[in-house]
Amino acid sequence: MQAVTVRVPAKVNLALTVGPPREDGFHGLATIFHAVNLTDDVTVEPASSWSCTVTGPDAARVPTDDSNLAVKAAKRLARSFPEIGPMRITIDKSIPVAGGMAGGSADAAATLVAVDALFDLGISRKRLLGYAARLGSDVPFALVGGTALGSGRGEELAPVLGGGSYEWVFALQREGLSTPQVYAECDRLRADRAVPVPMVSEEMMTALRGGDVHALAEHLHNDLQDAAIALRPTLRDTLETGLEEGALAAVVSGSGPTCAFLCENRSGALDLMVALNAAKVADDIVRASGPHPGAKVTSHG
Ligand code: ATP
Repeated sequence: MQAVTVRVPAKVNLALTVGPPREDGFHGLATIFHAVNLTDDVTVEPASSWSCTVTGPDAARVPTDDSNLAVKAAKRLARSFPEIGPMRITIDKSIPVAGGMAGGSADAAATLVAVDALFDLGISRKRLLGYAARLGSDVPFALVGGTALGSGRGEELAPVLGGGSYEWVFALQREGLSTPQVYAECDRLRADRAVPVPMVSEEMMTALRGGDVHALAEHLHNDLQDAAIALRPTLRDTLETGLEEGALAAVVSGSGPTCAFLCENRSGALDLMVALNAAKVADDIVRASGPHPGAKVTSHG
């Protein structure tokens, strides 16, 4: 028992429809999660005391105390399994922080998988998904990966089958947006309207089942986009620039501020990266493709 490393993907929401606030403060969602090959690596080792270290360009923006979702996940399992001792957790971070790509949730999912493997706990998939859902709405999807329909708070998942793979460009902003603030702004913008029950369109499901990138481009949708733009008006220019430079479609990822651009193919994505870099509409531009598998052990030393 030495160290286990798990690789886990970021997500983009291909559709995100948000219901009115529920009594428990959460919003009901209907969403299509899509995992892309922007990944974090989480390594867990037994140690004499608890510690968490984060590496990568955004490391300074990630807490290393008990508020880190990876630490929360490990300590949650340590409470259920008395044979588990303290751990050293190392997160090599490439997923943008506070970017609407569920990086913290991904680290929590990776930690659940790593701790299970490290201590040979043999936790069933169903039970692991239960731990994940209690840690956060986006955590179960990071375990599962691929493309999936999410309902409830996003934690109830059903895989979406389809043969397509998609090329993306992401425009990243160094300054994140707070997810609760974006939801609050969304509620404020819709305060004078009846909000329909959240639902993913049949057209979106058909596009995904057929692996049809052009149909998918027509139906990308995010109910949080107007709220993210209201809080960060420059996002509108970023989205427009991507469309002018050849993206098939542009959408704010989750609660933002990352903007996601769907491209016709890999060479289209490379061209768009160059154009967006030249236009200086974001702090960083990265390319990724999806769907990508969920949290997986990559080394067990
Ligand atoms: P989501 O899309 O799920 O709303 P996000 O991608 O916008 O989330 P995260 O990167 O998950 O945002 O981080 C949100 C905040 O959570 C960060 O600002 C940070 O303070 C905190 N946080 C806790 N644990 C982590 C972690 N392991 N990685 C990144 N941020 C973390």
